[in-house]
Amino acid sequence: MLDYHIIVIGGGGTGAAVIHDLTQRGFKATLVERGELTSGTTGRHHGLLHSGGRYAVKDQESAIECIEENMILRKIAPEALELNEGLFVAITDEDEAYAEAFLSGCEECHIPTRTLTPKQTLELEPKLNPKLRLAVQVPDGTIDAWRLPLHFFATAKHRGADIRTYAEVIGFLQQGGVVSGVRVRDHRTNQEYDLKGDLVVNATGAWAEKVTAMANADVPIRPSPGVMVAVRGRYHNMVLNRLHASGDGDIIVPQRNLSVIGTSSWVVDDPDKLGLPEDHIQAMFKYGSEMVPTIKDAPFRAAWSAARPLIGSKGEDEGRELSRTFKCFDHKERDGVEGLVTISGGKATTLRGMAETTVNVVCQKLGLDIPCRTKEEVLLPYRAYYN
Ligand SMILES: Cc1cc2nc3c(=O)[nH]c(=O)nc-3n(C[C@H](O)[C@H](O)[C@H](O)COP(=O)(O)OP(=O)(O)OC[C@H]3O[C@@H](n4cnc5c(N)ncnc54)[C@H](O)[C@@H]3O)c2cc1C
Repeated sequence: MLDYHIIVIGGGGTGAAVIHDLTQRGFKATLVERGELTSGTTGRHHGLLHSGGRYAVKDQESAIECIEENMILRKIAPEALELNEGLFVAITDEDEAYAEAFLSGCEECHIPTRTLTPKQTLELEPKLNPKLRLAVQVPDGTIDAWRLPLHFFATAKHRGADIRTYAEVIGFLQQGGVVSGVRVRDHRTNQEYDLKGDLVVNATGAWAEKVTAMANADVPIRPSPGVMVAVRGRYHNMVLNRLHASGDGDIIVPQRNLSVIGTSSWVVDDPDKLGLPEDHIQAMFKYGSEMVPTIKDAPFRAAWSAARPLIGSKGEDEGRELSRTFKCFDHKERDGVEGLVTISGGKATTLRGMAETTVNVVCQKLGLDIPCRTKEEVLLPYRAYYN
């Protein structure tokens, strides 16, 4: 084991993949999460294993990240995925006209496609709107939002990672612009303690700005919530996307015996204050039933919101215009604060790639040359986290 101790803040999918990569490269690592694991955005996302199709026209960097990581996750975490494929469905003239840009975007991003006639599509998914014009099949799938990070946590834990829940970072140990650890409040015991480290990785997603502010640093994050609605029953097996530029209620993900319709998009300043607008819930039923008419009368199970950690500054583009790509910030370069890096943006689908980029920055800062091997190693079963 290397003689370096790295602290990771945040126990979502990104923190999970980061602590796995760190321990695989030989670091001693401790992760602190203020609540339960995946209690942030990770435990509440839509569950779409993106092929990248959704971003292939307007956000190709993110589309390429998605298809590459989609293929890797199939190999390293198969138990967390349902490989049910996806359809982009054209219902209107406008949707049909969008197909050309969609297909060429997918080709540019190396996303495999298969164009289907209405007859072929309805044979595969009979509950789709019978007025559909065409559909394009892509390698989307369903992610189990909890099990995927648990695979990473399990593997890291078996390599000696120290994973602490209900442990909130309330400050940084800092002298002369150098971070040397964090101040933690243990919510189980109500005690506070210092945790020293050679470097701190901030993987707090939509909370990244709040956390970096405690170290007198800054990160350009726009917390961007979306609403999702789950209805009882599974009306199709493939993931459905509307074939048009990303909009509200245009994805339906079959998740066990539920169908999850999402999502909307706006921006907030505080990721702890999202709200759940009633008109967004109604919009999910309205737009979802344009693709699958049965959704209109499907029994309601739950509605919730969660915040995307999108990269962007106040006053820039908002919500849907912001890229879904990710970035690792070295706060020495950005704010003159040594010993702290932040990883943010991205998707649940791209968690492994986000971790690879982050741990490369960690190694570079410490003058180490240790290659990443997370693409190859099949992760332990998620159940191994508990034993
Ligand atoms: C509506 C919606 C739908 C989405 N759908 C999909 C999808 O279908 N497919 C997909 O690939 N992606 C999807 N995403 C994106 C994906 O959910 C996120 O990109 C991803 O979950 C972010 O993970 P994370 O670990 O970076 O952040 P989080 O999961 O939010 O983890 C950050 C953690 O930091 C913790 N934390 C905060 N402050 C502190 C502190 N001071 N001390 C200790 N811990 C702290 C939080 O409690 C939290 O658990 C969706 C996002 C949204 C909002």
